Amino acid sequence: MAEKKTKIVKIIKVDADKCNGCRACEVICSAFHATPRYSSNNPERSRIRVIHDPLKNIYVPVYAGEYTPAECAGRNKYTIDGKEYDECAFCRASCPSRDLFKEPDSGLPLKCDMCETEPPLDEPKCVEVCLADALIYEEREEEVEEEEVQLDELELGVEALADKYGLDKLMDTVTRMAVSEKE
Ligand code: SF4
Ligand code: SF4
Repeated sequence: MAEKKTKIVKIIKVDADKCNGCRACEVICSAFHATPRYSSNNPERSRIRVIHDPLKNIYVPVYAGEYTPAECAGRNKYTIDGKEYDECAFCRASCPSRDLFKEPDSGLPLKCDMCETEPPLDEPKCVEVCLADALIYEEREEEVEEEEVQLDELELGVEALADKYGLDKLMDTVTRMAVSEKE
C-alpha cells in the first residue's frame, strides 16, 4: 500500500465585504515577485487582482489560478447589486481569451504561489499588507499519498527557479542538461 504523508494545505480566506479596493495586495505581490525582489512594482504582474466597481463600493480580490491552454466553450456573466461584470471577471485561470494573470512582457502565465520562499514567511505578503483584514491566512493538515507531496514540492521548486532566473534561462539549462545526459 502507498505510504501516506501529511500535507499542509494553505488557504487564504477572502472577505470581499471588507475589501476597500486599496490595491496594496497587488503592489506588494508584484514587488515581492520582481527580480531582484522589491526592485519594481507593477500590478499587471500581480498574482492577485481586485475586480472593482468604485461607485457601488464593490471590490472582489481574485487570485491567479492554473494556466489553461484552451478557453472555455461558454461564458459566465455575473450581476452583483445591479452591476453587471465582464465575462469571466471572477475566473482565476490564466487563459488565451484575456490578458489577466499574464506577465505583460513575455505573456507567460502568472499563478499565486502563496509566496513560497526559503526561509518560509509567517504569512503571504498580500495577507500581511491587507490592513482591512479582507485576506485571512489559514493552514490545514491533510493526509495524502507520498507521491502527491513530492509532485507539489517539485512544482514549487521549479516555479521558484523560474521566478529567480526567468523561464527562458531555466528552459535553456534543462535542454542543455537533457542533451548532455544523452551524450
Ligand atoms: S489589500 Fe486588502 S483591502 Fe486592499 S485591495 Fe487588497 S484585499 Fe482589498
Ligand atoms: S499569496 Fe503571495 S503570490 Fe499569492 S497573490 Fe498573495 S502575494 Fe501574490
